[in-house]
Amino acid sequence: MLDDHTIDYIGNKDTDTHRVCGTCGKLKPVGDFYKDGKDNEGNIRYRRDCKDCYKKTRVIELQMKARKKTNG
Ligand SMILES: [Zn+2]
Repeated sequence: MLDDHTIDYIGNKDTDTHRVCGTCGKLKPVGDFYKDGKDNEGNIRYRRDCKDCYKKTRVIELQMKARKKTNG
């Protein structure tokens, strides 16, 4: 189980309308995050990374995968 205690030191708090991105640490509206299913109570969960960071990390992941393939 992951919890959000690690963000406390940043000084920003997740709210109903905003979340702190786990990668860039910026407080952004939930519309800037991809939805990631629902929790046990039926609340919408969001990815820890904002859309901008998700795109960046996804590109890096794809590059790493491609590199692994070429290296065998
Ligand atoms: Zn971000």
